[in-house]
Amino acid sequence: MKSYLKMSKNELSAEIERLRKKYKKYQGLELKLDMSRGKPCLEQLDLSMGMMDALNSEADLSCEDGTDCRNYGVLEGIHEARVLIGDMMENNPDNILIYGNSSLNVMYDQIARSYIQGVMGNTPWCKLDKVKWLCPVPGYDRHFAITEYFGIEMIPVPMSKKGPDMDMIEDLVAKDESIKGIWCVPKYSNPQGYSYNDETVRRFARLKPAAKDFRIYWDNAYGVHHLYDDHQDYLIEILAECKRAGNPDLVYKFSSTSKITFPGSGIAAIATSPNNLEDIREQLRQQTIGHDKVNQLRHVRFFGDIHGMVEHMRKHADVIRPKFEAVETIFRENLEGLDIAEWTEPNGGYFISFNSLKGTAKKIVDKANKAGVKLTPAGSTWPYHKDPNDNNIRIAPTYPTLDDLKTAASLFTVCVKLVCAKVIFENFEEYH
Ligand code: PMP
Repeated sequence: MKSYLKMSKNELSAEIERLRKKYKKYQGLELKLDMSRGKPCLEQLDLSMGMMDALNSEADLSCEDGTDCRNYGVLEGIHEARVLIGDMMENNPDNILIYGNSSLNVMYDQIARSYIQGVMGNTPWCKLDKVKWLCPVPGYDRHFAITEYFGIEMIPVPMSKKGPDMDMIEDLVAKDESIKGIWCVPKYSNPQGYSYNDETVRRFARLKPAAKDFRIYWDNAYGVHHLYDDHQDYLIEILAECKRAGNPDLVYKFSSTSKITFPGSGIAAIATSPNNLEDIREQLRQQTIGHDKVNQLRHVRFFGDIHGMVEHMRKHADVIRPKFEAVETIFRENLEGLDIAEWTEPNGGYFISFNSLKGTAKKIVDKANKAGVKLTPAGSTWPYHKDPNDNNIRIAPTYPTLDDLKTAASLFTVCVKLVCAKVIFENFEEYH
């Protein structure tokens, strides 16, 4: 395919006319498709229906240590769940606190605690004039929404295939005491699907922040979410690395079974150092007597152990791998060589990150919406919804059926081409 940047004005004009007709045809189909959120599809949810049989009215709801899960107690979560989630997170059960049904809830609480009571005896953030946060971009909109809600000033940090820009992070945290944290999705990141390389993780573990209460918010939401058996990303375990580096309290690590069993009805956890855990428990004791132990037990009985979970994740991969590959194929067939777009092709996680020409993302998302395909709003991958280049779009391929997804992805490429061809045509001198 001829690059749009090498086309003459006449060629571009003919291309725009051709694409307009194509787009009109799609509009005639009255589509109603959704590629906006990283939700598991029905087939994926069905994979966990066996969990409903793991407990019934005949079941013994006692834990291995005799605790009756029907009753109050066990703030940190039942031991067997801490073992299972410990294996999933690659952490010792002693470092794990099982929470409720959502890891975002844990992250929110972690910031709320720091805001209200402070981190390990440091000044509560509500008493400070300014609290700042580092946000690798593109990133996860719900992370940014939490820090925005608390009035925390967010500073974007560019991502690359290796992870966030560590030179910038080291420099900023060393000189600015008001920087209290950073959002990280270290494996199969949302939205690029990148995994931090060894050097990045090692440098994180060796950060020397000016603020004693600076913490890395290590959201390992996609730790076991591989798409392939034979090429999987590997991530150095951060808690162990922090300990090795003499920085044991630097990190809070989060995870959940949301995209393993049922989103909203899974179990979430935090893994961190004994000091941090004690700091958390002190407040958590006032918040709850304990989380849902029956659900914890249900998960343990369903999976048995980590091997059961790994096997289960293979089934997820079998369902969603063809969807990722279909989108990637359609992008390649329709966009490669045009010099208007690039996208990631991850080995795991839930998203593909798509970059188009500067100033086109909003228009593309709008055009797709008008033809019945809902996409994550442009700008969502940046703090305050402000993508300075207006060129990043998050693609979530898991939820639609394969056929719907192919239609949606094809229409999307038509929108990309139409918008970009027009922008190049209208700014011809600038592009040539
Ligand atoms: N973290 C990341 C990076 C995510 O992508 C998601 C889901 N989209 C979550 C957290 C949400 O997790 P939970 O359901 O456990 O709150």
